[in-house]
Amino acid sequence: MNIHEYQGKEILRDYGVAVPNGKVAYTRQEAVDAAKSLGTDVTVVKAQIHAGGRGNAGGVKIAKNLDDVRTYAEEILGKTLVTHQTGPEGKEVKRLLIEEGCDIKDEYYVGLVVDRDTSRIVMMGSEEGGTEIEEVAAKTPEKIFKEVIDPVTGLMPYQARRLAFNMNIPKELVGKTVKFMLGLYKAFEEKDCSIAEINPLVTTGDGNVMALDAKMNFDSNALYRQKNVLELRDLDEEDEKEIEASKYDLSYISLDGNIGCMVNGAGLAMATMDIIKHYEGDPANFLDVGGGATAEKVTEAFKIILSDKSVKGIYVNIFGGIMKCDIIAEGIVEATKQMGLELPLVVRLEGTNVELGKKILDESGLNITSADSMADGAEKIVSAVRKAG
Ligand code: ADP
Ligand code: MG
Repeated sequence: MNIHEYQGKEILRDYGVAVPNGKVAYTRQEAVDAAKSLGTDVTVVKAQIHAGGRGNAGGVKIAKNLDDVRTYAEEILGKTLVTHQTGPEGKEVKRLLIEEGCDIKDEYYVGLVVDRDTSRIVMMGSEEGGTEIEEVAAKTPEKIFKEVIDPVTGLMPYQARRLAFNMNIPKELVGKTVKFMLGLYKAFEEKDCSIAEINPLVTTGDGNVMALDAKMNFDSNALYRQKNVLELRDLDEEDEKEIEASKYDLSYISLDGNIGCMVNGAGLAMATMDIIKHYEGDPANFLDVGGGATAEKVTEAFKIILSDKSVKGIYVNIFGGIMKCDIIAEGIVEATKQMGLELPLVVRLEGTNVELGKKILDESGLNITSADSMADGAEKIVSAVRKAG
């Protein structure tokens, strides 16, 4: 789960990580009031969306007075920002962060991730802050330094110091940077984050070390014990289909392609996407209906897939283990009748009662193509979509 920058900064503040003063605003008037109450000469008006790259897209503006704040708030609120992280459709701005302007001396990068290779939390640091870290990683990887953190000891002060030195933080600010890093790590650990990225971390004219941006992601599997974090969820920022799916316990992720997939089991779902790609098709989603797929779940899954306007065909690939194939076939027939399906539908069933399942599909009188293997099904749906398209 993702949260907004201003929310991330509030969490960090609780952990002793220095952040500029700021307030969230939902309207132009709130923006002006927030700027007044901050009372600083320079205020920054920042679009709050769940994506980075706002600066370059016109979503971060420096205001020299209250009129500027009003103008920028008016301009940014309601605007659809397109950044390298939003995709071409962009994201509509509904909230602003009105923040104290900061006298930036230098911009750095600090990030924490869970590293799969070492099965450890890793802190990364670079003196190339403010820019896209992906680009730094691609072009000058030697400018990114890493500290692998032992879960028993946590981030050790000597590691933070080493990282600060490697990042070329001025000597007199190393102490503050170490405190910053230790606070950031503690927040990451205690809040069950999956990512915490500060880009930029800045040193200021008056000798401070601060987080000017904050991106925090949380492990969804840990949200049951992070009630305060869960309250920060902003459904406006999430895919409607994914929200709907989570109500029915379906694991659903939207993708860019046009073949809707309905599969049981995450492994089979991944393999199905791979085989569609192999036949040069593009999956529109990842959907795992789970082991105990009921007719109701199958129907809901169909509705969600069909609500995606880019879907031009559906591939159902289900292994009937605990669930028997005939029950699944009945669910599919029922859902198809309810939804009045017009798109090509290919179904591949395997497992318990498969013959009976196929018979139900064949005798339904519906336009369902059955497939004998995973590859056969993938080939059929890809060619059906191509013909239709
Ligand atoms: P994004 O990463 O989405 O572009 P940032 O929060 O990193 O957004 O802001 C982009 C740039 O705007 C920063 O690198 C920094 O130079 C500037 N900036 C952001 N917040 C402030 C602030 N409070 N005071 C001064 N400059 C800021
Ligand atoms: Mg940034």
